[in-house]
Amino acid sequence: MAEFQRPRGTRDFTPEAMSTRRFIEAKLRKCAERFGFGEVMTPTFENTELFVERSGETILDDMYAFQDKGGRDIALRPELTAPIMRFYVNELASRPKPLKVFYFGNVFRYERPQSGRYREFFQFGAELIGAPSIESDVEIIALALSCLKDVSLENIEVRIGHLGILECILEESQLPKNLYGICLRYIDKQDIKTLKLLLSENGIDPEKQDTLLSIISMKGGRDVISTVQTMVEGGDDAFVYLANLLTKLTKYGFEGCTVDFGVARGLDYYTGMVFEIDSPSLGAEKQICGGGSYNLAELFGGEEVNSTGFAFGFDRVMLALEKDSVEIPTKGIRAYIIPIGQSTRPTSFEILRTLRENGISADIDLMGRKISKALAYANSIKTDKVILVGEKELVNDSVTIRDMDSGDQQTVNINDIAEHLKT
Ligand code: AMP
Repeated sequence: MAEFQRPRGTRDFTPEAMSTRRFIEAKLRKCAERFGFGEVMTPTFENTELFVERSGETILDDMYAFQDKGGRDIALRPELTAPIMRFYVNELASRPKPLKVFYFGNVFRYERPQSGRYREFFQFGAELIGAPSIESDVEIIALALSCLKDVSLENIEVRIGHLGILECILEESQLPKNLYGICLRYIDKQDIKTLKLLLSENGIDPEKQDTLLSIISMKGGRDVISTVQTMVEGGDDAFVYLANLLTKLTKYGFEGCTVDFGVARGLDYYTGMVFEIDSPSLGAEKQICGGGSYNLAELFGGEEVNSTGFAFGFDRVMLALEKDSVEIPTKGIRAYIIPIGQSTRPTSFEILRTLRENGISADIDLMGRKISKALAYANSIKTDKVILVGEKELVNDSVTIRDMDSGDQQTVNINDIAEHLKT
């Protein structure tokens, strides 16, 4: 018989893994709601054109794109910002501004799978549409950082850059404008070797090359802003913007963000502030979040609207929590009923029903196991309490409730079980 394996780059999730994922997911959702963002959902697949329009033909190599039976070009979404902006242009553009939305969904990329890099993975993200102000950028960064605070991921590095400054540097280097996109992509990938080659091939003055390379490797606090400002002609607004951004973030209680002039995000639609968050514990695939301000609506046929947003790689957040040994409570059930002997089974099922009707999670031995085996099973599914239903106790309308942590046992009247388990 054929043995089936899951497709490369995909994963199955056990009940335990799903329980921890849902726990973290719920915290992220709650945080976004606390910030006034509402959840949206878009289709898993879109017309391929949407993504090509946004990122150019090269994205086709990285996507699951195909023709459906009607001959339409369809792609599984590789991210959710473009679908959300399409949704915005189609249906939401007339809503009062700003529009604050968040999403959680699976995305697909045809990549070389490795640890922390999958072909199907999950993104949690937010978009703040229609408020062209520094406060929107701050709100978005603060939401991302609050999400991480809520899930107790403390070991992170936040790097904030500004594409306006990178553009000034590129202008100064006199690189042809049509090569900015590819240049930003190399900077984003930290592919310095190919970047140097591109600059040399295009006759960029070696001194200018050195300035560019040294600026994109600079990271630090406010002092770095001043240092780079002395190295670049122009870009004053962007430098002031970055400095103000840092000040405003402290009002949200977030200090210690790093300025990094090498954050390029590699996508042509970002316009100003860009940021990334890393989990240093993750090694090569350490980037857990990327975001920035962008303008996409115009590209999709809408009116120009300033937007800012981010996307977490949810799977990497989970990996980082595990690496940093952040404890996540695992969900078990409240009560497991063990009928002792056939004659007690009917009453046991009545107890089961009453507990469930009272909103208490409860399960029962369906295997007719002996007590010791049934207890071992109850332990394996992380039960708080076991209800032993024995003939002798039933004569007095009672059962024995055993606490699985302490091993303490108590006799409880059948009518009081639900109440007993609620406390
Ligand atoms: P991006 O849309 O490329 O900015 O990605 C946003 C986030 O998704 C990144 O910061 C990563 O954490 C995560 N990510 C990107 N690609 C993958 C992948 N192949 N597998 C898992 N997570 C990914």
